[in-house]
Amino acid sequence: MHIFRTNRLLRSYLDRHRREQKSIGYVPTLGALHPGHMSLIKSARAQNDIVVCSIFVNPTQFNDKSDLAKYPRTIEADIELLLQNETHILYYPRYEEVYPPDLDTGIDIDLGYMGEVLEAAKRPGHFEGVMQVVKRLLDIVEPDRLYMGQKDFQQYTIIGYMLEQLKMPTELIVCPIVREANGLAMSSRNERLSPEARQRAGVLYATLCASKSGYDLAKISEIEATAMRSIKEAGLEPEYFTIVDGLNLSRPDSHSSSIVASTAAWIEGVRLIDNIRIQ
Ligand code: AMP
Repeated sequence: MHIFRTNRLLRSYLDRHRREQKSIGYVPTLGALHPGHMSLIKSARAQNDIVVCSIFVNPTQFNDKSDLAKYPRTIEADIELLLQNETHILYYPRYEEVYPPDLDTGIDIDLGYMGEVLEAAKRPGHFEGVMQVVKRLLDIVEPDRLYMGQKDFQQYTIIGYMLEQLKMPTELIVCPIVREANGLAMSSRNERLSPEARQRAGVLYATLCASKSGYDLAKISEIEATAMRSIKEAGLEPEYFTIVDGLNLSRPDSHSSSIVASTAAWIEGVRLIDNIRIQ
């Protein structure tokens, strides 16, 4: 595996391979890698000649600066995991590579309703920061395909919209959620939970599954209220449990071709998110 810390070296390596018509798959991450990230790497490996993974804890997407300070940084273990999974390139830039002082990296895309609901309502500025960093990283890597997890449902929906709005040539591939044995979606934040809380947090997936099996368009509010109660009873503090149209995040109606239940909840000071495709 090659590890690049500067854009110049990364780009000269990739340009050489691009000239040989090699395809490039790209997996952006914040590090603290786990099997969820590795599933993205595996998909990228299966569909591309070269796989680039980046690790960059992007400050502009953290609306809560204490969350940024607490974010786990485990670069040595990450490198080990990437090696085991035969990743070709790790791009591990310093802040100035991503945000040079003389470059305007701001993004001016109106997200409308998508930028007001679910995560956006609780984390002001978060998706602006995500769009900013993903756009910048895509400009550096210029991949054929971008791999993101279904785990961050609103994130990939917004990035898909951004690619469309900016007419960027990269194809977005969304990969299924990898879960722990009790159904808890894998996340770097799970490491901060006690074993008991980690076990209890399995209620999120159980509740999402229940909302899927009992889904009825006419009873959405009831299903949401029951789900909030189940999560509370398990000792978590739910922020929201909301069923939305998977394309525009509005309330589903009889024309919705994609419907998603999405939730966020707190336990032991850790904020967990999860979702399920209902249809
Ligand atoms: P992060 O490092 O948390 O920003 O995640 C990097 C990418 O990995 C994002 O596209 C996430 O959606 C994806 N990801 C994180 N956790 C999982 C998971 N449990 N299953 C599948 N993809 C995941």
